Formats: sequence, C-alpha cells, structure tokens
Amino acid sequence: MDIVTTGNLQKCKKCQKNLPLEAFINENTQQIKTCNICRHKATLQYKQSNQSNTEVGLLTLEEMSTTI
Ligand SMILES: [Zn+2]
Repeated sequence: MDIVTTGNLQKCKKCQKNLPLEAFINENTQQIKTCNICRHKATLQYKQSNQSNTEVGLLTLEEMSTTI
C-alpha cells in the first residue's frame, strides 16, 4: 500500500474525503473540487434522470450504496 502524504491530498467538496489530487483531475486535466467518484455518481444520476427506466436507476442506486 502506498503512503500518501497530506500535501498531495485534497478534500472533496461532496463526500468530504481526503483524496489524492489524481482523483480530482478530469478528462481535460483541469483540477476540480469534487472527486472523480462523486463526479461519476453525478453523471450516472444525470443519465438516469434522462431515462424513463426507473428500475435500472433503483438497481444502480443499490449497487452504489453497497460500494460506498
Ligand atoms: Zn467525492
């Protein structure tokens, strides 16, 4: 397991976790304030809200709650 120094950590605005800076860089290599995990979740929820299939959304939400 790698030792991460606090100097390389950033606190996510959403999940309030201290994560490595790598987790805050998006596809355009811009530094952002929410980690990739939260951004990924937001993207999933955005996609789900655009779908009328609620069954898929519920299943994915359950999967996410067990992952966290
Ligand atoms: Zn986060």
